Amino acid sequence: MSYRVTLIPGDGIGPEVTKAAQVVAAATRVSIDWEVVEAGEKAIASVGTPLPDAVLDSVRKNRVALKGPITTPIGGGFRSVNVALRQQLDLYASVRPARAIAGEGTRFPETDLIVVREATEGLYSGVEHWIDREHTAAESTAVVTRKATDRILRFAFELARRDHRKRVTAVHKANILKTTGGLFQTAFREMAPQYPDIPSDERLIDNMCMQLVKKPEEYDVIVTTNLFGDILSDLCAGLAGGLGVAPGALYGDGLAVFEPVHGSAPKYAGQDKADPVAEILCVERMLRYLGETEAADRVFRVVWETIAEKKVVTYDLALPGYTQTPVPASSCSAMAAEIARKVPIVDLAAPLPRPRGGGPGGDPHLEA
Ligand code: NAD
Repeated sequence: MSYRVTLIPGDGIGPEVTKAAQVVAAATRVSIDWEVVEAGEKAIASVGTPLPDAVLDSVRKNRVALKGPITTPIGGGFRSVNVALRQQLDLYASVRPARAIAGEGTRFPETDLIVVREATEGLYSGVEHWIDREHTAAESTAVVTRKATDRILRFAFELARRDHRKRVTAVHKANILKTTGGLFQTAFREMAPQYPDIPSDERLIDNMCMQLVKKPEEYDVIVTTNLFGDILSDLCAGLAGGLGVAPGALYGDGLAVFEPVHGSAPKYAGQDKADPVAEILCVERMLRYLGETEAADRVFRVVWETIAEKKVVTYDLALPGYTQTPVPASSCSAMAAEIARKVPIVDLAAPLPRPRGGGPGGDPHLEA
């Protein structure tokens, strides 16, 4: 069987890490027919818009996409392509697992968290304007609907039930944001009793940040609104070893787009230096979604072992904090080639040290 998958290479380090991911995908021998479409800076240069209809059409047609990061101009310029893609395709659930995978570099080796972030509304709804002509005051509106809140909460509880996770924590700021936060809190309190088998609780966002950097092992599935989820997923990536190793997935109804947590890291663009692991783990998650479980297991295990061996790792995993004995940094393409070399020959039966909660789970669509 061959799968047709949309590939959006993206900006900055995007083309390098998606190329690395393709090399590893090819090594699994799962037949993937990539349909490459450009969004972001290349699309502006070629067709004058950062998110051409061809990109949306391709994802709608193929139902599955692998995406690199896309640059968003800061403080002005065009609207985020990432936000627009999520809204236009109704990719409402952003699932970002943070598993301690980076060996000695993981300050919290017990970290095994999943951030489930509502990805279509909240403060990223795009409703903002200047109040006066002089641009001395501005307003942004957070749109929080009961429909979108209920579906992200249900997604989180279903994920927890399916993957035998120990707890769901809702994160909000309902003490200050009494309407938007209050709606989220009320919806959570009404949904939690429908899942009596899954312990659940709530945290205010500020307290959650403090709790996570003190004792992340006490948390499991975290469900929250768009902005809080964006920030918390970077924080959790840091706990688990850094942005270079943090994959993610976006789910809509019958659609899935796999993209790393990290951005386009423009300062490393074109240097063959960026860590390809996050994008490679996006391939792992994509293979699982497609039902190619053994191939996914191979990719995950080889990534794990390659990081643990610390012979062929990129600069971020070769930093002194990550290894007791310094190792030379390898390039993005060299690390991908090493992972690809091992994928067909790895011994899946050998014992693998796993974080608490276990393995490459955390995804309600794994066998969908
Ligand atoms: P970033 O994630 O691109 O980079 C932050 C830092 O993390 C980098 O300086 C680098 O040190 C490190 N880093 C990130 N990815 C790495 C990798 N694969 N290997 C090694 N180190 C890595 O965040 P930023 O600098 O805030 O954003 C840059 C651009 O990316 C912005 O335009 C932003 O809007 C965009 N962005 C896009 C997405 C997306 O496409 N989903 C997500 C986040 C940011």
